[in-house]
Amino acid sequence: MSSEIKDNSSAQSSSAIQISRASEKPPKGSIIMSGMRSTSHIHIGNFFGAMKPWLDLQNEYMGYYGVMNWHGLTTKYKEPHEVMSFAREMYAEWIAWGLDHEKNVIFIQSEVPEHIELTMFFMMLTPMSWLERVPTWKDAEEEAKASDTHNLGRFMYPVLQAADIAVYRGTHVPIGQDQIPHLELSRDIIKRFNFLYGGNLPEPKPIFSSTPVLIGTDGRKMSKSYNNAFQLTQSPDEVSKTLRAMPTDPARVRRTDPGDPAKCPVYSFHKLYSQPEDLRWAEEGCKSAGIGCGDCKKRLGERINENMAKPFAAKQELLSNPEKLDSLIADGCARARKIAKQQLDQVKDWTGFKPSGDWV
Ligand code: SF4
Repeated sequence: MSSEIKDNSSAQSSSAIQISRASEKPPKGSIIMSGMRSTSHIHIGNFFGAMKPWLDLQNEYMGYYGVMNWHGLTTKYKEPHEVMSFAREMYAEWIAWGLDHEKNVIFIQSEVPEHIELTMFFMMLTPMSWLERVPTWKDAEEEAKASDTHNLGRFMYPVLQAADIAVYRGTHVPIGQDQIPHLELSRDIIKRFNFLYGGNLPEPKPIFSSTPVLIGTDGRKMSKSYNNAFQLTQSPDEVSKTLRAMPTDPARVRRTDPGDPAKCPVYSFHKLYSQPEDLRWAEEGCKSAGIGCGDCKKRLGERINENMAKPFAAKQELLSNPEKLDSLIADGCARARKIAKQQLDQVKDWTGFKPSGDWV
């Protein structure tokens, strides 16, 4: 770093970009980076919020998609074996739902140690105050203390995220509006790195998901913590069981009472899975009391099962063929590692953090 240049890169966010809430189509040659924590099965909120955009992007852009098991460990550090087991299953689910293993690089985060090495660089240059201001940390602090996850790993989670993106020179990240502060922080960290060491890591931009907030099977916001989501690859029996327990419009007490689909979580799932004629049938039948809630749920179950049948079978096929799944995982991780290692070598060139003797 040149000592003549005044380092004002730590003055976060007076200079930090304020990310626009509208995203533009990424230019040709952009690199997409995204991932999910491997702490549970994927539910339909994950699918429509994250995976669907990946599937839409994969025909146009190079994508790096990581099963983020280090991130999973921040809250599940007492169950590392569970995080690893979900990691494997999540990998199978992504492939089963159509994430293309050839077009993209799909990897498991801990199999690419360069994520952690770059995180170490980023940790040194990130002021604590930047992390203390992250809204998700401030909002989650009480819950984190109560759940015994008020730990350093969870606190510095956004630093690891910045490294996840930068280690593949990611230019665009699909996010929801609530994740803007994290991406702004990633950009600030990367900007400061570039300033200090003369690097040229891209400052990533957002691609916003157009999926609205999904309602859970109990009528509350869909969330893993409420356990109120359809898993992505449930069997038909599991789907029927979940539907049977779902609440409907509370005003529709008897079969002869007309209902209001706008107040019914079942109808919100119809909107995701059903074609216009089924939607009309449900809406008109509900408002006129022409159909019962049992009929409505049965039709929805058929549509969900039609939608899930192929990926459910593909996932089962992969899980029952461990050699095939392991070879896909090994190949994806090796391809990720090759790119990440090249980037880390460049980081070491920029920073001068290289052996000065010939001990290696
Ligand atoms: S008929 Fe369908 S939309 Fe209407 S309340 Fe019953 S489940 Fe909900």
